[in-house]
Amino acid sequence: MSLPERQLPVHAPMNQFPVKDGELVVGGERLSHLAARVGQTPFYAYDRALLRSRVDELRKVLPATVKLHYAMKANPMPAVVGFMAGLVDGIDVASAGELKVALDAGANPKEVSFAGPGKRDAELRQAVASRVLINLESFREVVALEVISNELGLPARVAVRVNPDFELKGSGMKMGGGPKQFGVDVEQMPALLANIGRAGLAFEGFHLFAGSQNLRPDSICEAQQKSYELAVRLAQDAPQPVRFLNLGGGFGIPYFPGEQRLDLTSIGDNLAQLTQRAKTELPQAEFVIELGRYLVGEAGIYVTRIVDRKVSRGQVYLVADGGLHHHLSASGNFGQVVRKNYPVTIGNKADLTQKETSSVVGPLCTPLDLLADRMSLPVADVGDLAVIYQSGAYGASASPQSFLGHPACIEVLV
Ligand SMILES: *Cc1c(COP(=O)(O)O)cnc(C)c1O
Repeated sequence: MSLPERQLPVHAPMNQFPVKDGELVVGGERLSHLAARVGQTPFYAYDRALLRSRVDELRKVLPATVKLHYAMKANPMPAVVGFMAGLVDGIDVASAGELKVALDAGANPKEVSFAGPGKRDAELRQAVASRVLINLESFREVVALEVISNELGLPARVAVRVNPDFELKGSGMKMGGGPKQFGVDVEQMPALLANIGRAGLAFEGFHLFAGSQNLRPDSICEAQQKSYELAVRLAQDAPQPVRFLNLGGGFGIPYFPGEQRLDLTSIGDNLAQLTQRAKTELPQAEFVIELGRYLVGEAGIYVTRIVDRKVSRGQVYLVADGGLHHHLSASGNFGQVVRKNYPVTIGNKADLTQKETSSVVGPLCTPLDLLADRMSLPVADVGDLAVIYQSGAYGASASPQSFLGHPACIEVLV
């Protein structure tokens, strides 16, 4: 006897990885062979063909003049960043550590931008010397950059990150509007822009990022339009013409039951209208959108082997060799308010019709180490491979790997 499944809405179909002979096929390889090749579980696998097709799809709907940037904090694995650098127009970094990975990956410094609320002087110096665009987020950064620019004889390239006076509706994580540690409030913009002019920095434009993980096209369009209109107003106080306009991103992917894939059609149309308006209103501006999870999230899986199967008072527990310490977000502990299940399957039995309600838990001594809570899964046993979909973003690098001293996970790009 097993307990009933808890959630009624279903996950969006996960058909990005084909199934062959009952196994998921990842990077052209059936999962059990891939696991053998990797040589250990748990591991993350990211599929090059899926990364490429995601970028191709986006290019089809976005106006050709809109540049596509990869926000590498979503997945900073050097091989992934290197692969993405060859597909997108630029890389967005949020630390000097990420800057190094991006430059090592061969990203063109002209098309790298650096944002973040607490850039240390040493990081700003590295950024100026690298000739990347710095998304300024405070008055203090203007002062520091003036000193650094004079010292290096290189005027810092800057865009101003604006904390707008609106919020991105329906966003999983709000990063603009109201009081925020990000960017500089719209109200303070005239003073900041004047300081930039006096400091002799190379002003290039504006950066607006309203929020993350949004699955509502109408909210994204509204935020992009408001951001654009705000930039047009702010341009009047700018020390130089606006050449760079980063309208953010926030495109979400379906993680939880009831969520559906984002329809990009209206977003593409909206951007086309805005670029058309810009021909007269901001004639030199180049549009950028910056995406993290949307580019890489669906192309990745986390694979963990079942090491025990237990039944406790009627509930089946599949105890796996990986968990929260590698995949904090799938455990529900990375900013989620209410824990919900990521899409999960048994990757070497993906088309098994015999199902049961089971929970996938990790090896950590905490009830938080839960990867699947009472889901209907193919009947599984010791040795089988549990797979967490939608794991290409905010996985390994966003998890507390040393918590409890279990082995680290491996990441492969296939
Ligand atoms: C985190 C972040 C992103 C990427 O967010 P996703 O939800 O992964 O697309 C983009 N821009 C900025 C400024 C960020 O902080």
